[in-house]
Amino acid sequence: MFSPWQKTKKNNLEKLLADPNDHRHGTTTGYDYGCRCLKCKAASSDYYRKKTGRAPRKKKLDWVEIKAAMRADPSNPNHGTIAGYVKYDCRCPRCLDTASKEYSRLKKIEEDKKNL
Ligand SMILES: [Zn+2]
Ligand SMILES: [Zn+2]
Repeated sequence: MFSPWQKTKKNNLEKLLADPNDHRHGTTTGYDYGCRCLKCKAASSDYYRKKTGRAPRKKKLDWVEIKAAMRADPSNPNHGTIAGYVKYDCRCPRCLDTASKEYSRLKKIEEDKKNL
């Protein structure tokens, strides 16, 4: 069964959902009660952002930014490596050169295997 706190929480949520003008909407308290309206969700992610100093669930975009930053920076040590070509999708002359060398190296290994 519900503990007293859970029961209060449930009652609070019911009150909150019944009244869209409740002042607890748009606060982490509302979110904590279980309200998932736009205002409460915004309050929660705002709180999270302030607490951790970063936006929640932004990993994918960060990686896109990292890749873009790598390609825009010619002094990045990943240029001229397979990682630069494969991981960062870089197609600069150095990365292309390394990738084509690696490709022919792998091709040669395959051919050597066949010739055995
Ligand atoms: Zn709400
Ligand atoms: Zn490159």
